[in-house]
Amino acid sequence: MTFLKKVTEGAKSLGEGAKTIGGRAGDLVESTKIKFEISKLEKEVENNISALGNLVFLQFKGEKDHEKEIERLLNTTKTLEEEIADLKVQVEKLHPKPPVCPKCNTEYLPVANFCMNCGEKLEKENPPAE
Ligand SMILES: [Zn+2]
Repeated sequence: MTFLKKVTEGAKSLGEGAKTIGGRAGDLVESTKIKFEISKLEKEVENNISALGNLVFLQFKGEKDHEKEIERLLNTTKTLEEEIADLKVQVEKLHPKPPVCPKCNTEYLPVANFCMNCGEKLEKENPPAE
């Protein structure tokens, strides 16, 4: 759990810096901070999974006593993924993805009927492409 603590501490110090900036800039700092944290956590997940692979292989080759570490890594990785999902929801809340024109990919306001760029008729319920 030590790296989780590290991540949390890093987030704290970043958060303190963000406090001095208010309003929209603050939101931007906030989402940049969260995105940075997401990529950090994703890196941790990657590391955990490759460590897990090694441990499973060592176990397969007959080495004993890796069960605890495997169990620990499985649990922390699951927790990390949940944290990543939470953070992604937070980013989404700060910056809801605008819908984009299906023809030219230009972002448009949800109230628009036609694309401002290419004039394509816009479907109101079209979810934004991932
Ligand atoms: Zn368009």
